[in-house]
Amino acid sequence: MTLPSEFGSIRELRRNASELAEALLEANWPENSYPVDPILIANRVGVETFSAQLGNDVFGMLVKPAGSGRPQIFLDADQPANRFRFTAAHELGHYVDRSSRLDGDMAYIDKRSDNDRGNAEEIWANEFAGNLLMPRAIIQQLESEGLSQFQIADQLGVSFDALKYRLRMLANAA
Ligand SMILES: [Zn+2]
Repeated sequence: MTLPSEFGSIRELRRNASELAEALLEANWPENSYPVDPILIANRVGVETFSAQLGNDVFGMLVKPAGSGRPQIFLDADQPANRFRFTAAHELGHYVDRSSRLDGDMAYIDKRSDNDRGNAEEIWANEFAGNLLMPRAIIQQLESEGLSQFQIADQLGVSFDALKYRLRMLANAA
């Protein structure tokens, strides 16, 4: 896989995604409030979001014409609520990533059948989504209150698998 030149390693790429997610939360979301609503945050930063029938294979997409064209996220209505939220956060991640380093039009389509999850932009968007929906400070707070991992996933509105992955990433980054 190829990394954008500004990232020397996957670790740096993940750290960058994590920092931008934290900055976005700090500017657009009340501290320690959960579950985080990625749709509301997208709207606050000028990204329109739509729930639509996107067919059997598409989770979501981000499009933005070059120039002053407005960014739009389309989310397939037929996905479980947790998955819907994760897809919204992932597409918002593509927008934040691209806006931070490149001009021009944007077009990302994320499919259930995708086999490019190892692609740098996909790793970035997934790391961003994980950080946005499962902020480190909130996970630590819920852990200190004695909640189980199932309860934490439920409180944060994410799947148990998404939480387990996030906990693994946090342990690796420590
Ligand atoms: Zn993607």
